[in-house]
Amino acid sequence: MRRKLAAGNWKMNGTGHDLSELAALARAHPDPACDILICPPATLLHRAGETTADTAIAIGAQECHAEESGAHTGDISAQMILDAGARHVILGHSERRQNHGESDEDVRAKARTAMSAGLTTIICVGETLAERDAANTLDIIGGQLSGSVPDTATGENLVIAYEPIWAIGTGRVPDPAQIGEVHGFIRSRLERRFGAGVGRSVRLLYGGSVKPDNAADIFAVPDVDGALVGGASLKAADFSPIITALEASG
Ligand code: PEP
Repeated sequence: MRRKLAAGNWKMNGTGHDLSELAALARAHPDPACDILICPPATLLHRAGETTADTAIAIGAQECHAEESGAHTGDISAQMILDAGARHVILGHSERRQNHGESDEDVRAKARTAMSAGLTTIICVGETLAERDAANTLDIIGGQLSGSVPDTATGENLVIAYEPIWAIGTGRVPDPAQIGEVHGFIRSRLERRFGAGVGRSVRLLYGGSVKPDNAADIFAVPDVDGALVGGASLKAADFSPIITALEASG
């Protein structure tokens, strides 16, 4: 039985002032029927951990380096993330793949390091609109999965987020059949590669313009175990009804 996960990605948003949103979220969900994760910018990891100590909210990072330490100005390591109090990291987000030229091999190397440090990795995959229009979606997702996910993956240290690039921050959302097709495909690929036990225990999140008013429809799709939410995770008043919809999805 997979426990559902509502994950928020604050991206490059948030300063100390916004920690009040985390406190409000924790107050609204003292005993949630799903896991709740917020990934603030690296500058807030430690304070976010303090704000959410003894609450049901977990904290994660948005990125980490593939090496354990060294001459990498501006980067942060898996150990630094753990030291700041976080236990999760998002890897291979499309904004990292596009803006920082990250390849599947880069994501796989980072994931291997993060997993061996004890972090749970949320690895993002997703197609462009041109790739979908050319009927290449499943080929693209299959390639990203085999290229980005290391052999060390387990049901505990891996979460996959399917995030169609054309749905991120645009207000456009695939229809339930399109989401179901991709999630079913990801599930079958994981089962084929890692066996049924691991393949069935990895949580699959949908991400891309999830809002309070579309969350219930998305969570009703088979093999959707939660969401990775950008814009609507910044305010407790927006994220809270998404969490409630996930809890209600059973
Ligand atoms: C994201 O960037 O991971 C995301 C899903 O963003 P949004 O919810 O704003 O579309």
